[in-house]
Amino acid sequence: MATIKRPGDFESMLQDPVVSVLIIGGGINGAGVFRDLALQGVDVLLVDKGDFCSGASAATSHMAHGGVRYLENGEFRLVREAVRERNRLIRNAPHYVRPLPTTMPFFKWFSGLFNAPLKFLGWLHEPGERGAVVTKIGLWLYDAYTRTQGTVPRHRFAARRKSLAQFPQLNPRVLCTATYFDGAILVPERLCVELIVDGLAAGPHAAARNYLAAVGAADSRVTLRDELTGESFSVQPEIVINASGAWIDAVNGALQRETRFIGGTKGSHLILDHPELRAAIGEHEIFFENDDGRIVLIFPLRDKVLIGTSDLHCDDPDSARCTPQEVDYFWAMIAKVFPGISVQRDQIIFSFSGVRPLPARQSDATGQISRDHSVRLTWPGDGVDFPVYSLVGGKWTTFRAFSEQVTDMTLTVLGRERRQSTRNLPIGGGKDYPRGAAAEQRWLAALSAETGLQLARLEILFRRYGTRAAAAAAFIAADADQSLQCHPYFSQREIAFLALHERVAHLDDLILRRTSLAMLGELNAELLAELADMTGAALGWSEAVRQAEVERTCALLADRHGVRLH
Ligand SMILES: Cc1cc2nc3c(=O)[nH]c(=O)nc-3n(C[C@H](O)[C@H](O)[C@H](O)COP(=O)(O)OP(=O)(O)OC[C@H]3O[C@@H](n4cnc5c(N)ncnc54)[C@H](O)[C@@H]3O)c2cc1C
Repeated sequence: MATIKRPGDFESMLQDPVVSVLIIGGGINGAGVFRDLALQGVDVLLVDKGDFCSGASAATSHMAHGGVRYLENGEFRLVREAVRERNRLIRNAPHYVRPLPTTMPFFKWFSGLFNAPLKFLGWLHEPGERGAVVTKIGLWLYDAYTRTQGTVPRHRFAARRKSLAQFPQLNPRVLCTATYFDGAILVPERLCVELIVDGLAAGPHAAARNYLAAVGAADSRVTLRDELTGESFSVQPEIVINASGAWIDAVNGALQRETRFIGGTKGSHLILDHPELRAAIGEHEIFFENDDGRIVLIFPLRDKVLIGTSDLHCDDPDSARCTPQEVDYFWAMIAKVFPGISVQRDQIIFSFSGVRPLPARQSDATGQISRDHSVRLTWPGDGVDFPVYSLVGGKWTTFRAFSEQVTDMTLTVLGRERRQSTRNLPIGGGKDYPRGAAAEQRWLAALSAETGLQLARLEILFRRYGTRAAAAAAFIAADADQSLQCHPYFSQREIAFLALHERVAHLDDLILRRTSLAMLGELNAELLAELADMTGAALGWSEAVRQAEVERTCALLADRHGVRLH
C-alpha cells in the first residue's frame, strides 16, 4: 500500500500522551471548541477520522441564519442566539460571510395562522405551508431580536406587481413576497479550517490532526488509529469532548458507553450551472415552503445556483448520498416557483449530502425536531476513567456560542479561568480586514510593496482568503512561481502554501475543502493531475502515492458528488 508521511512534528506529539482535553470530531463544533480552549491556554488535542470539516459541516445550505421557522416550534432562545451569532459571523468573518437578501414568495395569505400557536402548545405535529400573515409576525419578531445591532436591514413585504417586476420569472400566481436578511457563508469548509489554524497559532499546547480516528478506550486511555498509515497508539485525556456529530453514538460505543443521543436527518443539495435560473434569482436567496412545510432554497453561489434541501431520517451518516428521488423533488419545487424555467440533469455539476446531528427523535416530522444544542455528560465507568461530554445538535451559525458554553464548562471542570472572549474575535482572514474599497486598495498596495507581487494577483488572493492572503503572498513571493497550466488563476506556490500550511493530507482535501474547485465545477482530469503534481511535490509523495491519490479522488467525486472527470 502507498502510505502518506505525516508532517515532522507528528512524532513529537506522541512522546507525551497526557492531554487535558481530547476533542473527537473536527467539524464546526469541534473546531470551535478547539480554538476557544487553545486561546485559554488549555492543552488540547483535536482529531478527526477524515479531513476537518468533511461531515455535516461541509453539507450545509450555506446560511448563517436565525431560522425564522423555528419560532413556530417555540424555539425562541435558539432564534435569538442564532440571529446574534449570524451578526457576529458577518462582523468576524467578513471575508466569507456576507449579508444575504432572502426572498420568500407567498401563494396563500392565511395558511399556518393557527398552526403556530397550536404547535407551540404541542397540539399539532404535522407542519404545513405558512401563509404571508403568519410569516409577517415571525419576521417582525426576527427583526426585534437584532433591533439595536443594525448589522442587516429590516424585512419588507412587496405586493404582487412589484414582486413580479423584481423577479419576472416568478410564478404569476404569487400574492406577495417578503424580503429579509440573513447571512451567506460562502466557503464554510475554509472558515472551519481557519478556526483550526487560529487555534494552532495559540501555541504548542494545541494540536490538531485529521485522519486520526478514535477507535477504542481502556482505563484512562483512548486508542487512536492513524487512517493514513494504519498505526495505532493511545492518549490519556482528563476530559473527552465528543464532537463527532451524527457519529456521536458510534464514538461513545468505542469509548465503552452505550448512548442514543442522535436521531440524524439527511439533507442533500445540488449545484447547478444554469445561467437562466441564476439570472432569475439575482443576488437573492429564494426561500419557500412546500405544501408539507418542508423548506426549499435556491441560493446564488458565485455564478452557480445551489438548490437544497431535503430532511430524511438517516441512521448511517457514512452512507448519505443525493438520490434520484431527491433530485425529482428539487425539480418539482423549482417548477412551483419558476414554472417557465426548465432544469435538466446535465446542468447538475456537483451534489452533496450530510446528516444533521439532531437529538434522538421527539417528532416524526423531521422539520419539527429541535435544532437547538445541548451537552450530554456520561460518567466514567465500565473500566474507563474519563468523563465524556457529547455535543448534540448545534447549527453552523451558532457554533461560537455553543463552543463558548462547552469551553466555560470545561474550564470549570479543570479549575481554570477564561482569559479571552471569542465574541468579537475575527476568524482567520477576517483579522484586520480592510472595510470599504479605499481601505482595501491601501491594504493591497502595501502588500504589493512588501512582497513584490502584482496588485491583480493579490486581489485574487484577497477575494479567496481575506487577509490570510498576506501569509499566502509572503510564501508565494519567497521563491519562483508560475500559474497552473490548467487554471491561470491559481499558482504552483499557492497550492504548495495550502498543502503545507493547512493540513492537506489527501488530494481531495485540496479540491473539496481548501479550495472550491470541485464544488464550482472548475475541475477536469488534466487539472486534477496537475494539482496532484503540485501537492505531491510539496508533501513529498512518491509516484505511487500520487497515482493512488488521483484514483482515490476520482472515485470519491463519482461516488459522493456525482462528478465524473473528463
Ligand atoms: C443538509 C444540511 C444543511 C444544513 N444547513 C445549515 C445552514 O444553512 N446553516 C446552519 O447554521 N446549519 C446548517 N446545518 C447544520 C450544521 O451544518 C450542523 O449542525 C453542523 O455542521 C454540525 O457540526 P458538527 O461539528 O457537530 O458535526 P460534523 O460536521 O458532522 O463533524 C463531526 C466530525 O466527527 C468526525 N468523526 C466521526 N467519527 C469519528 C471518530 N471515530 N474519530 C474521530 N473523528 C470522528 C467526522 O469525520 C466529522 O468530521 C445543515 C446541516 C445539514 C446536514
